[in-house]
Amino acid sequence: MGKLDGKVAIITGAAQGMGEAHARRFVAEGAKVVLTDLNEERGQAIAKELGDNALFIRHDVTSPAEWKQVLQQAEQAFGTVTVLVNNAGILGPLVETTEFDEDEYLKVCAVNQHSQFYGMKTVIPSMQKAGGGAIVNISSTAGMVSIVGAPNLAYVGSKFASRGMTKHVAVQYGPDNIRVNSVHPGYIKTPMMAAATDADGGGITAQVPLRRMSDPDEVSSLVLFLASDDSSYISGMEHVIDGGLTA
Ligand code: NAD
Repeated sequence: MGKLDGKVAIITGAAQGMGEAHARRFVAEGAKVVLTDLNEERGQAIAKELGDNALFIRHDVTSPAEWKQVLQQAEQAFGTVTVLVNNAGILGPLVETTEFDEDEYLKVCAVNQHSQFYGMKTVIPSMQKAGGGAIVNISSTAGMVSIVGAPNLAYVGSKFASRGMTKHVAVQYGPDNIRVNSVHPGYIKTPMMAAATDADGGGITAQVPLRRMSDPDEVSSLVLFLASDDSSYISGMEHVIDGGLTA
């Protein structure tokens, strides 16, 4: 018995990093999983490795039209979608607010924030018809507190927005048995983090009470819990996973 037996999930940004880890864990726990990402080559390879219960769809999360196509293809392949993990995200440039290019600002907001709106708008009607569902929006500790070294204003703003949208949608659709939660990771060993720091994490582990970064799979345990019926009475909440960083 898997914790996600009978569930159909969409996970965005699943071609590497945490999204990939969540997809692997979800399939292992019995879900049928649609992995989406811009990176077609890696996404296809991961889905092939995962077998018949995984499907990759090339998808730009900033496109509402592509969201509709993803839902249609997902439901054709596996049936009604009842789990959505809005994971895709970008850091954007490491830049001060007064130096921040407007187009770069808008791009970070589109990938990190607007995509989560499009995803929820697209998938909620299916969840309503199915009698419920679970949405997990990936935010960050940067969406909880102000962190020295946060990349830029748009990253922080979009991650706070993810947390706020989560609460709004959780209150609106709770009566339809749709649960919505946000996850706020600290420092996680992924390609995004590798690009932002040097080999030892730029000394950042010294700031973390547990004195280490997290493996993506440790975050998957939390996302799995929030997607599964084990968390059946948990909604509208922020779930921090940061080794004590923001304690
Ligand atoms: P990552 O860069 O390793 O992976 C992100 C994936 O998203 C990539 O495969 C990329 O191709 C995809 N992506 C980017 N733009 C996209 C778009 N427009 N459409 C579809 N896919 C797109 O990142 P990660 O570290 O695994 O981060 C996953 C999530 O966790 C992000 O939302 C990130 O902001 C958040 N987060 C990461 C950390 C960390 O320490 N790594 C900490 C806090 C929050």
